[in-house]
Amino acid sequence: MRRITMRAEVLEALSKLPHELSQALKPMMTAPGFDASLSPEEFQHLMAVSQLSDAELRIQLLSIAAAYSIASISNFYVGAIARGTSGRLYFGANMEFESTSMSQTVHAEQSAISHAWLKGEEGISDITVNYSPCGHCRQFMNELSTAQSLVVQLPERTPKALQEYLPESFGPTDLGITDLLLSDKTHDLQLDSEDALLTAACQAADKSHAPYSKNFAGVALRAKDGRIFSGMYAENAAFNPSLPPLQVAMIHMNMADYPLSEITEAALVEQKSAPVSLLADTQTTLETFSPDLQLAYAAI
Ligand SMILES: [Zn+2]
Repeated sequence: MRRITMRAEVLEALSKLPHELSQALKPMMTAPGFDASLSPEEFQHLMAVSQLSDAELRIQLLSIAAAYSIASISNFYVGAIARGTSGRLYFGANMEFESTSMSQTVHAEQSAISHAWLKGEEGISDITVNYSPCGHCRQFMNELSTAQSLVVQLPERTPKALQEYLPESFGPTDLGITDLLLSDKTHDLQLDSEDALLTAACQAADKSHAPYSKNFAGVALRAKDGRIFSGMYAENAAFNPSLPPLQVAMIHMNMADYPLSEITEAALVEQKSAPVSLLADTQTTLETFSPDLQLAYAAI
């Protein structure tokens, strides 16, 4: 369920779209179930009323995606729209976090892809971005189950395959990994706990992508109104572009139009036998929102 109010930046972006498009999109975006994604039918309807092509419409909609951006350090607002293999389109935006390290930043492509993953997609067919994907994102996308067929669309550019943006790429198969990002999998994780937040974090960990460290990890965040947002860990063959589960949970919250200042509690579940730990980074980043924020932790 979406909250009643939508942030001012999104409403402003909506009002600036061409009139027919704005009028057709507004009832979709203000409907109670809107979750910053569009069904294939809604997208087809928008194409028909706006008389735009598939790519032209996605490019127009980037301003809506970018309106979810939290970029108080760079003031550089990046929006991305990832289309899952089901045909549904998911908005995403970059997120920056003051008072912590730059490595905690979320890129718009990571946001849109994680958003699709959180909603159950098992692959991404194309991604539309308002700026050329940085090297970090090209590498992040090369981890996807659909990395060999993924198409990247930029404004005023012809669509190109990810592999054209990342020639002679290094990826999971170079490390002998065949289990790819977004491919459906579970790890049979179990947690004996009555705590709803820890249970949600464990369920997220069960769906995580951690073939390198085997640190199957998940985070769950509780908002002021009680709603829980979870996030799965997404490792990468090049290690550094890995996206921590806290970031995926924050993407979940941001795309549901919840301010991160409304995080009241958090939980992290990870593997006690893994050679890496996400505990220190998760704690440090959460403390920037509130020094008193309680992090429940289970190493299983
Ligand atoms: Zn990037």
